[in-house]
Amino acid sequence: MPSVEKILIVGGGIAGLCTAVGLKNSGIKAEIVELNPKWDVYGVGIIQLANALRALAALGLAKEAIAEGFPMSSLVMWRPDGEPIATLPQPQIAGPDFPPQNGIARPKLHSILQKAAQAAGARVRLGLTVAHLEPTPHSVKVSFTDGSHGEYDLVVGADGLRSRVRRLAFPGAPEPQYEGQVVWRYNLPRPAEVDNIWMWMGDPKVGIVPLGPNLMYMFITDAAPGSPPRFPEAALAQEMQKRLDGYRHIPLLAQLRAQITDPSKVVLRPFETILVPAPWNQGRVVLIGDAAHAMTAHIAQGAAMAIEDAVVLTEELRRQTSLEAALQAYNHRRFDRVRQMVEMSRQLCIWERTHDPKADPVGVTMASVQLAAQPI
Ligand SMILES: Cc1cc2nc3c(=O)[nH]c(=O)nc-3n(C[C@H](O)[C@H](O)[C@H](O)COP(=O)(O)OP(=O)(O)OC[C@H]3O[C@@H](n4cnc5c(N)ncnc54)[C@H](O)[C@@H]3O)c2cc1C
Repeated sequence: MPSVEKILIVGGGIAGLCTAVGLKNSGIKAEIVELNPKWDVYGVGIIQLANALRALAALGLAKEAIAEGFPMSSLVMWRPDGEPIATLPQPQIAGPDFPPQNGIARPKLHSILQKAAQAAGARVRLGLTVAHLEPTPHSVKVSFTDGSHGEYDLVVGADGLRSRVRRLAFPGAPEPQYEGQVVWRYNLPRPAEVDNIWMWMGDPKVGIVPLGPNLMYMFITDAAPGSPPRFPEAALAQEMQKRLDGYRHIPLLAQLRAQITDPSKVVLRPFETILVPAPWNQGRVVLIGDAAHAMTAHIAQGAAMAIEDAVVLTEELRRQTSLEAALQAYNHRRFDRVRQMVEMSRQLCIWERTHDPKADPVGVTMASVQLAAQPI
């Protein structure tokens, strides 16, 4: 018998939707409230490493993600002069039917998860959020910003980095911290030879990631101490091009640089991190995904950890006969693994920013790959 009957999921992003999918056929009713009335996501890509595919496979969604994405095997690192440094293979841990890694456009992943959550029976309400949470001994009473009310056995805060659930239920929790680096991204047509993730380890670091037969994205990680820089939108393409000036001797990067022309398609984001101390629940309110932990994208593990959180939480809700035991098991299985990922992602960011001569990005990246491959 599941330990709860009715769950409120706050946030219809990766973590929230995967939670709803994980509750399919469990007998637990899931209701999602999503603040964004359009329920859309911005249009660049996401890297799904082996453990992300393993977690999606547990939810029955890996095949679809791979069919909509671009299956790959490795991360190829180059020196800024164009000489190869290393090829880091990803382990094939999701099973023999799945590749070691995948690249997928965010809107495609979002659409797969939206359809799956609704097919799993989740009720979705858009354009609202929680106004108040009132714990009772056996439930959480919730009032919503549209004036409606509900009572739930469990509230799941899956509302991302600036989580309102965290603010309401976890007084004293840390705030997101800017890590002094931003990332520039742009979608481009994929040249046939780019069949894995390629990264040039100069300053700034540049990478390209296949997302489909005809699509890839470029990213540039760029040190920006103090606070994230702001540019007029009209200048964004030119600013992104400028950051590739030092790579014009590499023919592929010179060609790609020339294609960065539409400022409205440049996506500029700061790297921000947070690690809410354990436990990630306060009574019947639990945090998952970026609401509980966010990392820099250097190890491409943020969404992977969010999907794993959802898999573990829903497994424990099905398995345990008390909610307390389910949440205890969730905290136990998740906290230390995620803490190490957050720390490694920060370390890589600091090394890039400070040009530390003792930096070992290959070593830390491999350590994150090995940790990711551990069972969850
Ligand atoms: C530049 C960059 C690149 C990245 N690349 C990768 C990558 O390649 N691979 C990878 O694994 N991870 C990557 N990540 C991390 C990944 O994007 C996040 O970890 C992931 O999106 C977290 O999912 P989430 O569902 O917890 O949060 P989100 O994706 O932020 O979803 C939260 C949802 O909650 C909604 N919401 C917000 N506030 C409220 C509210 N008050 N009430 C109701 N709903 C609300 C939002 O609209 C959204 O739908 C990257 C992150 C960044 C910044």
